[in-house]
Amino acid sequence: MLTITFLGVGGAFAKRNYQSNALIEAWTQSPNAQVEPDDNLLIDFGSTGPMALHDLKDVDGFEYLNDDGHIRFPSIKRIFISHQHADHIGGLEELAFANRFMYASLNGDTGFRPQLISSADILERLWDHSLKGGLGVLKDKSATLDDYFDVLALAGDGSKSESFDLLKGYRFSIFSTDHLSIRNKYDWPSLGLFVTDTESNESAFYSGDTKYDFSAYETMLRQSKMIFHDVQLQDQPDPVHALLSELWNMPPEIRQKTHLYHYDDSWDDPRFDSVREHFAGFVAPRKRYIIFE
Ligand SMILES: [Zn+2]
Ligand SMILES: [Zn+2]
Repeated sequence: MLTITFLGVGGAFAKRNYQSNALIEAWTQSPNAQVEPDDNLLIDFGSTGPMALHDLKDVDGFEYLNDDGHIRFPSIKRIFISHQHADHIGGLEELAFANRFMYASLNGDTGFRPQLISSADILERLWDHSLKGGLGVLKDKSATLDDYFDVLALAGDGSKSESFDLLKGYRFSIFSTDHLSIRNKYDWPSLGLFVTDTESNESAFYSGDTKYDFSAYETMLRQSKMIFHDVQLQDQPDPVHALLSELWNMPPEIRQKTHLYHYDDSWDDPRFDSVREHFAGFVAPRKRYIIFE
């Protein structure tokens, strides 16, 4: 079984919800039959990630994340990074230092090193432009990404054939998303995930941050039994996220399996009541959704 639980469902400026980071869990049986999953993967870990994980550890069914009132950081086995914005990476320094120093004894004196997965170009920028400032020095020596993480760098072009697996048979393929660009589409790298159960051949779509780009994603959207798509509720010219008014243009059979996340604090305004009827609805935070049985 594969499940997904959003630590938060908010956009970069949301205050009523934490940012949109999600925990994927892979189970040989099910959450009811197991104390903890066999494998897991955090999709992004933003600035509000540590507080969101701190809250999640107190929710029924997530006790394995709780270490005597603290987050048990080594319970997070892998982290996938979709792109470099702080609402997706801002919690990584705390996670890295906690694994290194609070759990130093786990692996000699080097602490726990979770797997860190992204495209090679995102990982390079992530270290050089974001993480190096805080993580670049350990006592008496300079440090690199490998001191904290077991790094898995996928090909930089974000081609859909690049993938990694959870357990046997849950395949995560990356694809480029059109979130921001400098001169040409995709020249500022950001990624989404297309997940396939290679046994049943069912699939699911996780957009990451993207503009509305239905023609680019249509094949994957039609194939997916479950879709998670970022949304911006308010219209604006030249947006960097999919506007709700644009997502309304998707065919009804696709809308109805689309769960919306990355929304601002106005989601419960009556103006958006129809979302629950015409889409799969707004994703609820800290709720475990089953992707594949
Ligand atoms: Zn974002
Ligand atoms: Zn973003």
